[in-house]
Amino acid sequence: MAFELFDKRKPGLKELEKLSKRMSRKFKVDKTWIKIGHKQRALQYFSITDTILITSRAIFPIEHLLHEFAHHIVYHKHYYRTGPHRKPFQKTLWKLVMWYYKGNPEKYNWVNEYPRVAAYGFKRLSGLNKRRANLAGLN
Ligand SMILES: [Zn+2]
Repeated sequence: MAFELFDKRKPGLKELEKLSKRMSRKFKVDKTWIKIGHKQRALQYFSITDTILITSRAIFPIEHLLHEFAHHIVYHKHYYRTGPHRKPFQKTLWKLVMWYYKGNPEKYNWVNEYPRVAAYGFKRLSGLNKRRANLAGLN
């Protein structure tokens, strides 16, 4: 993981809470509650209680948190006037990923995202790679 807060082991509730607090400060939104579910297969964001539910079976709990936190930010800034995984969500997730992976968004598992979100991620990645190649004088 790129974030110095985490080691390579699967993060526990405390680490996820720490990351959530940091994101609240960084992106100027209310704090969220984090709950670990043991049965639920799906991840969820509950806007009424500002709660993010992450299943203990998640292979990439941090990436799930980034995804659900993007819902949290979009909810507080756009109040779901747009569909759940539309442009505002995609842009917000990209910002979170850029921040978390310190400018290396290719580290995020875009292939695991919803198709629309993945497509956005890959489009931004290709734009970023083109700019990087230009800067390096490869084009
Ligand atoms: Zn979602």
